[in-house]
Amino acid sequence: MPQTYQFDHLLSAGGWLSPGCVSVDDGGIITAISKDPDSNAEKLSGACIPGMPNLHSHAFQRALAGLTEIGGGAENNFWSWQKVMYEFLTILTPEDVEAIAAQLYVEMLKGGYTSVGEFHYLHHGPSGTAYDDPTEMSNRIFSAARQTGIALSHLPVLYTQGGFGDQPPLNGQKRFLHDIDSFVRLVSELQTRCRSLPCTETGMAFHSLRAVSPAMMTEALDIITEGPVHIHIAEQMREVTQCLEWSRQRPVEWLFDTHHIDNRWCLVHATHMTKEETASIAKSGAVAGLCPSTEANLGDGLFPLPGHLEQGGSFGLGSDSNTSVDAADEIRLLEYGQRLHLQQRNIAAAGDGLSTGASLFQAALRGGATALAQPVGSLRIGRQADMVLLDTDHPVLAGRSGDAILDTWIFAGGRAVIKDVFAAGRRVVRDGRHAEEDRIADTYRQTVRRLSH
Ligand SMILES: [Zn+2]
Repeated sequence: MPQTYQFDHLLSAGGWLSPGCVSVDDGGIITAISKDPDSNAEKLSGACIPGMPNLHSHAFQRALAGLTEIGGGAENNFWSWQKVMYEFLTILTPEDVEAIAAQLYVEMLKGGYTSVGEFHYLHHGPSGTAYDDPTEMSNRIFSAARQTGIALSHLPVLYTQGGFGDQPPLNGQKRFLHDIDSFVRLVSELQTRCRSLPCTETGMAFHSLRAVSPAMMTEALDIITEGPVHIHIAEQMREVTQCLEWSRQRPVEWLFDTHHIDNRWCLVHATHMTKEETASIAKSGAVAGLCPSTEANLGDGLFPLPGHLEQGGSFGLGSDSNTSVDAADEIRLLEYGQRLHLQQRNIAAAGDGLSTGASLFQAALRGGATALAQPVGSLRIGRQADMVLLDTDHPVLAGRSGDAILDTWIFAGGRAVIKDVFAAGRRVVRDGRHAEEDRIADTYRQTVRRLSH
């Protein structure tokens, strides 16, 4: 049934309304926004802000969180972490992946994310053989999203080789591999299915330049002409060095030289770039996919945010390895990384006198919505009613109004001040609890305990 909600404060596309009303149709789409009180509306106290699109997740890695924080000398880095991750995923079944993803998506919703881009490369069985139904693993991700209510942009990943120059895959990479025909079939089938499913989209992803043959990348782009395209691009210096040895170009430089890059593209971890590469991304309309908590956890490096913003570049946020599942955490860490590096404050504020939290939040909403290619990221007519209700009775938010609400949530409150969450108009989190969280957590606990033995 169509529904209207009246909030004490509402961050609409046009700015803060106090009070603010939102009308939502049966499909979860916003049909009206108003500042006039509505006697028929359900009245909810608090400040309603748009749900954050999470543009980059590897769901299964949530079950690894906290298990790779052990000292191990100078060679303890991204690559040693990747080895542990490969060992972990050799034992995962489709049921395990669904259980982990469902728990993760509950946590995402409770942390302020209402849509997610699942960068999905765990396609096949442990020996590398495709399941009887090649969409089996993708189906598990769709099921997890459906159980929890989060909007899903599914990004099946093309992975064809073990390293630059057509290196053979390691055993740990065999579950990821496709030839071009099987990959195109997978994406086409999922794209067709998504057309009849609400709040879902299927795009495609290239794992990285080191893991995909250039010829297959070109072929996939020639055949699959719809949906977003994501890629891990320059996460680690070793990757940049290897790319230079292979092509005499750096990863971003190679990509822009070889393909037409526009706002269909999301370049994840564009961490190690020259000024020229930063300018190419900013001018192209591509979204820089930033994952500050994972990039810190893995020791990746810092994205050159000031240069990117100065040139009008867009960006969105992802939780990637899912050690942190909290939208406020990612925004705060993005800003704090720059402050620590530059020894200044309020680096990302869009201008003097403007709020840093609001500047980052609004930019990440825009970039996230573009990268997920879904009508999300803004409370305006025609978009999904993805809404996060902050508890203005929480002591940390006492006396706050306007953008100070956002700054306080981001820099001081975090997920503790999130009260309710609506995904496409459905109130999936109420008073801090997801309707399915007990059942989903039970299954998750059993799964992870079994995997630990
Ligand atoms: Zn990633």
